[in-house]
Amino acid sequence: MKTIIEPFRIKVTETFKPIERAQRISALQTAHYNVFLLKGEDCCIDLLTDSGTGAMSTEQWAAMMLGDESYAGGKSWYKFEAVVREITGFRHIFPTHQGRAAEGILCMTRLKAGDTVPNNSHFDTTRANIEFIGAKAINLPCAEAMDPVFDAPFKGDMSLERLTQFIECSDVDKIPFCIITVTNNAGGGQPVSMANIRAVKAILDKYGIPLVLDACRFAENAYFIRERESGYKNHTLLEIAQEMFSYADAATMSCKKDGLANIGGFLACNDDGWAEDFRNALILREGFPTYGGLAGRDLEAIAVGLREALDYEYQAYRHATVVYLGDRLIARGIPIVRPVGGHAVFIDANAFLPHIPASEYPGIGLINSLYVAGGVRAVELGSVMFAHRDEAGNEVPAPLELVRLAFPRRVYTQSHFDYLIEVVEESWSQRESLRGYRITYQPKLLRHFSCHFTPIDR
Ligand SMILES: *Cc1c(COP(=O)(O)O)cnc(C)c1O
Repeated sequence: MKTIIEPFRIKVTETFKPIERAQRISALQTAHYNVFLLKGEDCCIDLLTDSGTGAMSTEQWAAMMLGDESYAGGKSWYKFEAVVREITGFRHIFPTHQGRAAEGILCMTRLKAGDTVPNNSHFDTTRANIEFIGAKAINLPCAEAMDPVFDAPFKGDMSLERLTQFIECSDVDKIPFCIITVTNNAGGGQPVSMANIRAVKAILDKYGIPLVLDACRFAENAYFIRERESGYKNHTLLEIAQEMFSYADAATMSCKKDGLANIGGFLACNDDGWAEDFRNALILREGFPTYGGLAGRDLEAIAVGLREALDYEYQAYRHATVVYLGDRLIARGIPIVRPVGGHAVFIDANAFLPHIPASEYPGIGLINSLYVAGGVRAVELGSVMFAHRDEAGNEVPAPLELVRLAFPRRVYTQSHFDYLIEVVEESWSQRESLRGYRITYQPKLLRHFSCHFTPIDR
């Protein structure tokens, strides 16, 4: 059969009651035009993030009942550790309450003010953790990544030329580590090839710089390698993941993504000295090293979820849903990043709303229109999230203005996507009347979560 179906049946449902258009308009106003400040129940299809929003399997729920809540050395910890070690091969494994806690511990123990950290593209929390120390986060994506419509199999790759050039122009002692993010979330959810990970590692080895994998979507990345990179057709996703991790000296992970859990993360490494520092920081910030900010039942759910994420049928179904939406938007002439990413479809807000300059945040204009049109909640990955300030303090726009429709795992069905397509079409038909926004309040770090906007009158 040609049709790829959900490799699961639905056993539990959650009812939602869509609110009317007039209520959506007033809810958005109350939320200062920032969809992060909306109530979840006022969103009909919630594509704000794929993080922690997935549906757990019967096996995960059953495993949660086995949660051992011992403070130290619980049974659930040993199961978690065994699964993470099988997949990653790391000697030292530390559970954390989510991905950014792992990043925080990595940064507070390994970075000093004035250091720099290259990455294919830093995610917002990674950048914030680095900048909080006074270090600099540098993006070195490959050239293809900058062109939203250029179709290439591994647009998440790091640029090897730019990396070499960057290291040669820097004081190597001030580059405590380099990160590769799989898949490249900030760059459109695009995968990174095994060849690229291997080549980056070879360059870093010449200078003695350790490689850290930001592994949030390692299983989706493994699926893309199997489908798109020669030599991997007969490999299991587990084998591919094991090879990816074999090139890394450490990894940070959000189990809210490819852990198929609602909370959790981990930090892992091989070096005993790093592990000693991580352990001390973990006890201070998260908890004892055998639970690290999580309940025993969470460790159980993650141990099962990490294995389920490496199931080929599951990844094939997940990718088919992203392609389903992407193909239908392309057929309607709606500008999206191509090819579609692993966990989301990214709309190119610059091309959707060419009359709105980056300084007026076209992504916010589009997101707010999707919410009013159909109660769909999306997220901006553009200048609100990724702009930085130059030496003079002026805001430098992000290279791309994207709107991400992220897919919670195992949650929405095909008719939800058909509805979503209608909603995007409605915003598309009204695009010329959509407005830009101005920020009226913003915090210093991670402003997108809580800043306030006001529409700009034309
Ligand atoms: C989600 C994410 C993080 C942070 O993880 P949290 O669990 O949300 O704290 C870091 N890096 C990438 C690439 C992510 O997608």
